[in-house]
Amino acid sequence: MEKKQPPHKVELKRQIWYSVIYSLVSLVILLAINFWAVNRPEPAKYSQFLDALDAGTVTDATIGADTIVWQVGAGDEAQLFSAARVPGVDESALLEMLEAHDVSFTGVPANGFWSEVLSWLIPLGLLALFWRWSMGKLPGATQALSFGRSRAKIWDESTEKITFNEVAGVDEAVTEMREVVDFLKHPDKYAALGAHIPKGVLLVGPPGTGKTLLARATAGEANVPFFSISGADFVEMFVGVGAARVRDMFHQAREKAPCIIFIDELDAIGKSRAGARSPVSNDEREQTLNQLLVEMDGFDSSIGVILMAATNRPDVLDKALLRPGRFDRQITVDKPDLNGREAILKVHTRNVKLADDVDLHVLAARTPGFAGAELANLVNEAALLAVRQGRQEVTMNDLDEAIDRVMAGLERKSRVLNEKEREIVAHHEMGHALAGMLLPYADPVHKVSIVPRGTAALGVTIQAPLEDRYLFTEAELRDRITTLLGGRAAEEVIYGQVSTGPADDLQRATALARRMVTQFGMNEGLGPVALEEMNQGFLDDAGFVQRQYSDETAERIDIEVQRIVSDIYERAKTLLRRHEAVLRDAAQRLLEKEVMEGEELAQLLDEAGVKRPLTDI
Ligand code: ADP
Ligand code: MG
Ligand code: ZN
Repeated sequence: MEKKQPPHKVELKRQIWYSVIYSLVSLVILLAINFWAVNRPEPAKYSQFLDALDAGTVTDATIGADTIVWQVGAGDEAQLFSAARVPGVDESALLEMLEAHDVSFTGVPANGFWSEVLSWLIPLGLLALFWRWSMGKLPGATQALSFGRSRAKIWDESTEKITFNEVAGVDEAVTEMREVVDFLKHPDKYAALGAHIPKGVLLVGPPGTGKTLLARATAGEANVPFFSISGADFVEMFVGVGAARVRDMFHQAREKAPCIIFIDELDAIGKSRAGARSPVSNDEREQTLNQLLVEMDGFDSSIGVILMAATNRPDVLDKALLRPGRFDRQITVDKPDLNGREAILKVHTRNVKLADDVDLHVLAARTPGFAGAELANLVNEAALLAVRQGRQEVTMNDLDEAIDRVMAGLERKSRVLNEKEREIVAHHEMGHALAGMLLPYADPVHKVSIVPRGTAALGVTIQAPLEDRYLFTEAELRDRITTLLGGRAAEEVIYGQVSTGPADDLQRATALARRMVTQFGMNEGLGPVALEEMNQGFLDDAGFVQRQYSDETAERIDIEVQRIVSDIYERAKTLLRRHEAVLRDAAQRLLEKEVMEGEELAQLLDEAGVKRPLTDI
């Protein structure tokens, strides 16, 4: 039933229903209180009582310890009055007076206070009861009223079956997901071997790269129910609802195993508790997160429930979520490279009539930085253009125009590099990569890419260390710094000036140089003195350090650090000047392909006759 409407519409309807029912209940309670008030005696004065008594209109009286309530008239006309009794008035005189006027009377135990309290407690109690009932904690709560019920949607496999055929350009992620599919299809096979099954799979990547799509396709391939809920759904106004929802979702999923639970936009609930920047602590989110952690710890993936989540902000996630036994497998879903974009365009033009002049490869080359969502959007825009002009086919012209439209939207959201910037980035990254390739102690280059990732990194050079390292020689550290500075050096060698791009490289290089001086004693000026406590972090991680030196020493440290960094920078420039031709060639190749594997680069160097590794620098 819900499937036919977009979720937000269903949500809105439900909210309206809640409001209506709530108003009705409140109204009833208010009316009840009012009715009570109608039957309550009207406040009056004791003298009025005496007057009424004299006039003979009093028909009934109730004598309390400090109040007297009397009735005037009878039947429908009856009116109740109450007055405080005058202290010191003789009880027996009052009774005699009542008897004399033939008034029936009775006494009440002295309280009044309790009836007052009760008159407030009962409506409040009713409200509270209704509240609990609507939260689904009392039996008989209907689905429509259950705030606490998980709003996870179950995809009906028959109508919305999505397979990996619909997901393109993210082959590595798909390969990983195939394993999950296999597990969901044959859980017994894994159980028999006692193999460790991932409990939680976290899809990480920029927006629009197909994380949600991939999760749905995984469920489609495995042919299992798919519980999907968005982190944003959890952020409700009432404390405790999110946690209840998590509990309920896991409960439902256990009954439906094998199945997939998918939490989209995990960062909405999984934000680091410690790093919460808002001055108001978000109890609701914290409770939800805690419940999620509890549920994750409590279930055994061998029953065939796989928890998946997606985020484009892995940096803000609470570390507790990433611990072993929780989201212990992370899969990166990156923006597609040239070939990836072509593949995605193929998927999205499957049902679109294309003119003969359309070349998807050319189109892919014109859309660097586009994610799957933008490419899908691009095809759709082009189709709309064609329809508007009454044509039967989508032409290359339509697609080109659509690029501009999508790009305009994209430019506001994230960076799209212009041609000149791409060129600079290509030379910069190639500078890192060449240094990594040529220096004897640098880590081997695994991949160079100028596919923009997110907003910060314009390109990336990935180096894969051959082994885990605990010891570094001075030569190794120097090579490492040279590689870090290689990007900047390449810019200077090629363009004679540097851009703002390498700021991060500089920082890392300087931090490393600093540790050479203050922690490893690797310098001439100050000698082998440990000036700062060694911290436990990685080599790249400056962490927190204890300063153990005077201001004068601090100055000398600064000078030493400067000397190391500028010496090594000169070294990087020398290296790249010597190989300027191959640097230009390789950067050109990178511009065309956007991504180059290490082997490819090695081949290019071999063909150019460059000897590796360099020993004379
Ligand atoms: P994310 O969840 O990563 O933000 P989505 O999965 O919501 O991205 O992608 C939005 C839409 O963009 C998808 O429904 C699909 O049409 C298209 N899309 C995104 N990535 C891909 C991809 N890798 N292959 C094919 N289509 C994609
Ligand atoms: Mg998504
Ligand atoms: Zn760099």
